[in-house]
Amino acid sequence: MTAQELQLGRLRDMLPAVLATNPFYRQKLAGFDPDRLTSLKALQALPFTTKSELVQDQLDHPPYGSNLTDPLERYIRIHQTSGTTGKPMYWLDTEESWNWWANCWKVVFEAAGVTASDRVYFAFSFGPFIGFWAGWEGARKLGALIISGGGQSTAQRIQSIIDYRATVLVSTPTYALHMASEAKKAGIDLARDSAVKTTIHAGEPGASISSVKKLIEESWGAKCFDHAGATEVGAFGFQCAFQPEAIHVNEAEFIVEIIDPLSGAASADNGHGELVITNLGRVGSPVIRYRTGDLVQPRRENCPCARPFLVLRGGILGRVDDMVVVRGVNVFPSAVESVIREFTEVEEFRVEVYERQVMREIRLVIEPKSTECSIAGLTERIIKRMRERIGLRPEIELVSPGSLPRFELKAKRFFKI
Ligand SMILES: [Zn+2]
Repeated sequence: MTAQELQLGRLRDMLPAVLATNPFYRQKLAGFDPDRLTSLKALQALPFTTKSELVQDQLDHPPYGSNLTDPLERYIRIHQTSGTTGKPMYWLDTEESWNWWANCWKVVFEAAGVTASDRVYFAFSFGPFIGFWAGWEGARKLGALIISGGGQSTAQRIQSIIDYRATVLVSTPTYALHMASEAKKAGIDLARDSAVKTTIHAGEPGASISSVKKLIEESWGAKCFDHAGATEVGAFGFQCAFQPEAIHVNEAEFIVEIIDPLSGAASADNGHGELVITNLGRVGSPVIRYRTGDLVQPRRENCPCARPFLVLRGGILGRVDDMVVVRGVNVFPSAVESVIREFTEVEEFRVEVYERQVMREIRLVIEPKSTECSIAGLTERIIKRMRERIGLRPEIELVSPGSLPRFELKAKRFFKI
């Protein structure tokens, strides 16, 4: 049986249960007969599900919305989105769907070579965000020893990682860099003093950007793996050892489509597009043809790891909403971050896109590690590298060390003004 036939079988198993009792999808897919789903292509006849629809549904049916296949008492976990773009969305999971999440995360760990003999440290506060909770359950499935970094300061976390001899770090890419920077200030060399050999990054894109990955790997003396997931969707993306600048989509559990974000039409092979996902194991609160808003560059190619799954080059490239055209050049946040991270003198940064006399311009606010470095030289070198790589000459504003915000989760560095 092919992978597509397996996906189709899973979808055909799931749909009757959802259409029988789930008010949100009963209304949305009214009149649709699951028997008509004879190929994956037939899925394209169904409407997209959008985030704004789900948000509206929760406003109309507070607090949890109506995308619930089971009676409320069958749900055992609740999480919420970070709400960086508006009101947080709540999401419920049944025992079965929470177990499914854990198994999806187990795949993430296994692809990174993590085993039952590892000690996995979660540098996370364990608030309502789902990703690290699901990762925690996935590590349990694997039989690894799990260490929580909840309720600890950065200094305490660094000490715990060393004391417990943690071999795996799970955090956002931003926070891994922040920990490394704090450790260095305290005279600790994490590459030498910690037992961490693998880092896995969730919660925000970045760990597929080669310069970010290189920084993390050098400062931790470890191999860095990216992961992609979302509260509404599940843990859908993971990195194997053979393609450090790409992620696989776990097509055993998710059906993916790539569309033109403007027209909604299926995007041309090997082009950029928006990732659309249908999950196959979260029957209690599924998403069908969900527009993730994530911009990706898919490739159907054979990977040396022998997994048959789709490859997304560069991981999640950014949000469709964040893509801007500046002087005729398509600018992706990930591309700008990639250039800036090549400068080890830079501690933190933000990107501002603004309009001046109807022309769109780009300004980089750069916070150097110290005031001692050659600031005039740094500005010119960043401008030169941006021109070479992206074809743009940005305005640069240097700010004093410590003035830009730091992030544990969901770094926000790209602003349209
Ligand atoms: Zn692979």
